[in-house]
Amino acid sequence: MQHPNIKVPLQWSIFQKVKRLVNIGVDEVTRPMVLTEFLKLLRGLDRKNYGAYRRLKNIVVDYKDFNIKIVHVQGDPHAPPSFVEVTIHRDYLKVLEKAISLSRDVTPVEDFVYRALFKLLKRYSRRCGSGNSCYLGVPKPSPCMLRRSGVELNKVLLLRFFLGLPAKDRRVYGDQAVKLFADRIPRIVKELMTVLVNSEKRVLEIAKLYRDQEYVRGYLYKEGLVAFVADGSILPRESSISEKPLQKAVPFRSPKSMRITIKLPSGKSVSGMGIPLGVVVLTGGGYHGKSTLLRAIQRGVYNHVKGDGREFVIAREAAVSVMAEDGRIIHNVDISSFVEEDPYIGKTSSFSTLNASGSTSMAASLSEAVEMGAELILIDEDNSATNMLFKDSIMEKIIPDDPLKPLSLQIRSLVEKSNAGIVVISGSSSAFLCRADRVVRMRMFLPEDITDYVRKFVGVCEDTVSFSGVRMRVFKGVGGVKRIRSRGMRLRIHYTDGVEFELDLARNPRIVEEGQVRLIAAILRRLVRENVHTEMSELVKYIDEELGRRGFKAFKKPVSPDLTWVRGIDVAWVLNRLYRARFEQVPTRNP
Ligand code: ADP
Ligand code: MG
Repeated sequence: MQHPNIKVPLQWSIFQKVKRLVNIGVDEVTRPMVLTEFLKLLRGLDRKNYGAYRRLKNIVVDYKDFNIKIVHVQGDPHAPPSFVEVTIHRDYLKVLEKAISLSRDVTPVEDFVYRALFKLLKRYSRRCGSGNSCYLGVPKPSPCMLRRSGVELNKVLLLRFFLGLPAKDRRVYGDQAVKLFADRIPRIVKELMTVLVNSEKRVLEIAKLYRDQEYVRGYLYKEGLVAFVADGSILPRESSISEKPLQKAVPFRSPKSMRITIKLPSGKSVSGMGIPLGVVVLTGGGYHGKSTLLRAIQRGVYNHVKGDGREFVIAREAAVSVMAEDGRIIHNVDISSFVEEDPYIGKTSSFSTLNASGSTSMAASLSEAVEMGAELILIDEDNSATNMLFKDSIMEKIIPDDPLKPLSLQIRSLVEKSNAGIVVISGSSSAFLCRADRVVRMRMFLPEDITDYVRKFVGVCEDTVSFSGVRMRVFKGVGGVKRIRSRGMRLRIHYTDGVEFELDLARNPRIVEEGQVRLIAAILRRLVRENVHTEMSELVKYIDEELGRRGFKAFKKPVSPDLTWVRGIDVAWVLNRLYRARFEQVPTRNP
């Protein structure tokens, strides 16, 4: 016999389901409104309290060739602007199809459309009332070809941009709102479509460039290289706050012995310096371009736009810079290969601190790089803890009980075991030289291969310490998070007990746009909300896969127009430094 009570929860759950369906019907499947009807609605809002704009949320306006959906409505004229989604049917965009099939990737085409959209919005953005009234825009792109939420291409072409709904004295400014929707926005969209239709040749060229760049990256993996720097590249930038190439810079030129020529899919070929997977030491006098070369290699994880000067500076995707970061947080990281246990430091096979020293921070970042599966590790003595890099023989005698086991003593075994290449800048110590596969000397901004010359007086030597690998960790969530926000390049996390923690992502040279910081914030929110517990190396893969499969909406709903693609390894970078993030070691080791 059936218990009568069972029916109640059952009915309840059906009721909930029906309710949910009905709700979806109201909120999401909005029928497009014809433009005249929409403009009438706008006129009707004139002089009403600004909050009346809320009625526009989720309305889709039919402009025949495209639709505009009002996704977010700002609460007041001074709040961050509202945003819309414009859907353009792909039939109009045959020119993009060709480019996409050529590059086999939407990234260069999306990037091109984004840059065109950015320019147009900037041109049409103006003030027309109080606060952000009539503002139109998307964030300025870096010279890297990246996927951004401002433009998404799948079955349709989707544009997202910010729009300040016009206000006069905190009231709806109907006239201006009508002008915006009846005139300015359709004009922008039409101009953009004209730009695209007339850019067939340029888009194809960009797609070809991107395909060539990806080909070079693939070539690195095939040929046992970690990076490539083309002859003629312009590496230095105008200034530390400008991404423009430095005028009158000395163009890069590979030493003959390291020069390779790659035949590209476009039919062109490119020559330049191939950096082998191994131990590569960059040396040279001060101010001769060492750091500039290393920075350019780091940026080579991204493909740069034509005219940047670094179009063919290409690195393996998981290239990371390791540096000293005094004061950083470390969670249960196995640094035992670099730091021996001692009464003051404590257990180094599972090391934690809220305030690392220069050398332990560097050791932790090295271990984490290996744990995350880094393919190339970049080290500059300018921002390193030098006692983690090397120690000379006299100091070895003077400090016999030093817990530090510098990188120079185990660099070969680290490379061999982890299969990550290392490029290390060292102009003040010879410690790395006898273990280097290549020694490159920068002189007046040009590299020379001095490997044979150096071998003559330092010879070849074996590691005296064997790199022991690192124990892997499981991410176990973050304790008591209340709010995660991003502001420029910084993340700010508020905890339930009132503590505030800030992390500056400008310290990670792989982060090149604020949109990446915003996406990382969104990813963190989801990890915290869903209380995700996963092995770190798995988490890195999971994030890459989710983004690849579902795009931005995998992590943020609704998707705002200001997000930039990021890789799982950069989310890991943040988790590794996050206050109250919890990690547990597992028995497996890498390698
Ligand atoms: P190092 O690390 O060897 O001390 P840097 O890479 O910091 O040298 O470069 C020193 C200065 O030279 C910087 O201002 C940089 O912008 C400039 N520079 C670097 N490469 C070039 C180049 N190829 N041509 C002209 N100037 C350059
Ligand atoms: Mg330097």
